[in-house]
Amino acid sequence: MASSPTPNLIDPFGRTITYLRVSVTDRCDFRCVYCMSENMTFLPKKDLLTLEELDRLCSTFIGQGVTKLRITGGEPLVRRGVMTFFKSISRHLESGALKELTLTTNGSQLKKFARDLASFGVRRINVSLDTLNEEKFAKITRWGRLPQVLDGIDAALSAGIDIKINTVAIKGENEDELEDFVRWCGDRGLSQTFIEVMPMGEMGEENRLDQFWSLKDLRARLAQTWRLKEIALTTGGPANYVELAETGQKIGFITPLSHNFCESCNRVRVTCTGHLFQCLGQEIETDLRQVLRDNPDDDTALISAIKAAIDKKPRGHDFDYSRQKIAGEMSRHMSHTGG
Ligand code: SAM
Ligand code: SF4
Repeated sequence: MASSPTPNLIDPFGRTITYLRVSVTDRCDFRCVYCMSENMTFLPKKDLLTLEELDRLCSTFIGQGVTKLRITGGEPLVRRGVMTFFKSISRHLESGALKELTLTTNGSQLKKFARDLASFGVRRINVSLDTLNEEKFAKITRWGRLPQVLDGIDAALSAGIDIKINTVAIKGENEDELEDFVRWCGDRGLSQTFIEVMPMGEMGEENRLDQFWSLKDLRARLAQTWRLKEIALTTGGPANYVELAETGQKIGFITPLSHNFCESCNRVRVTCTGHLFQCLGQEIETDLRQVLRDNPDDDTALISAIKAAIDKKPRGHDFDYSRQKIAGEMSRHMSHTGG
């Protein structure tokens, strides 16, 4: 098996970029209250990268040393033909250039696709799930149905895929089921990561300060029931982890607003329109779609554009919820950059 190419993407702060998150669609079959407004306008098809363009882009990043690829959205599994894309990208797993191919999903289509994903080398995935209560689930996701997601989780586990549950901490919504939810994950051998609501996109009537439940608070609640052992799991990402001493279960906390995680950032994001975002919390971006389309048969310009973009990766983000106002708020939705 061939090994990965030498890392070529090193930013001005010495961070090597080995992790690419790619959004394959801005569309979704849910309308989660913290992510989308009820009436979203989606992009016209011509603005989206085709599956072939997505493949070419990802493959170019892999050629420059990216070893982990996360497919996201919108809901990645509602993109038509997305299994063709997974199948094609899996050749980089076979060659050894890519170490991990994964995705973040709301779980609604997993029952349909879990076996295919497993056969294309997907070994673990993140499933977003904020509550185990059917009514609350319908309220938070607006369009989702909990049993469909739970069936999807079972299908993925049966296909041999490991699951991490991503739970957004939402004040007044999932506070009351915290301990039960953690036990539910433990019983199924699932790790769980809690996420603070981030100030992304215009939410209409929803107010992000009302939704904000601090993970400091959540963690203190957990410590009343379990003994929390700090563990060093270095993913290069924003989560820090504890282990519940009694069960061995791992719990992660993503606290971008109350904790700075930028020093070890090893990732960039590409939207479904081929725009590279150097940082989730900054407006800076680079249009790679134009470069792709202007140079259909030659990747030299694309590689140069990617390197130039990495040269502009900022040191970090400016989110701040302090003093009852949201500073550093981003105008784009998480479904646009892919979370
Ligand atoms: N549709 C897929 C899903 O829900 O997993 C993938 C895309 S979704 C944008 C990726 C992640 O972003 C989800 O875990 C979701 O909960 C999270 N997310 C969306 N909006 C957020 C916000 N404003 N603050 C914190 N997390 C958010
Ligand atoms: Fe869709 Fe995921 Fe956004 Fe929910 S969080 S609306 S599932 S993209």
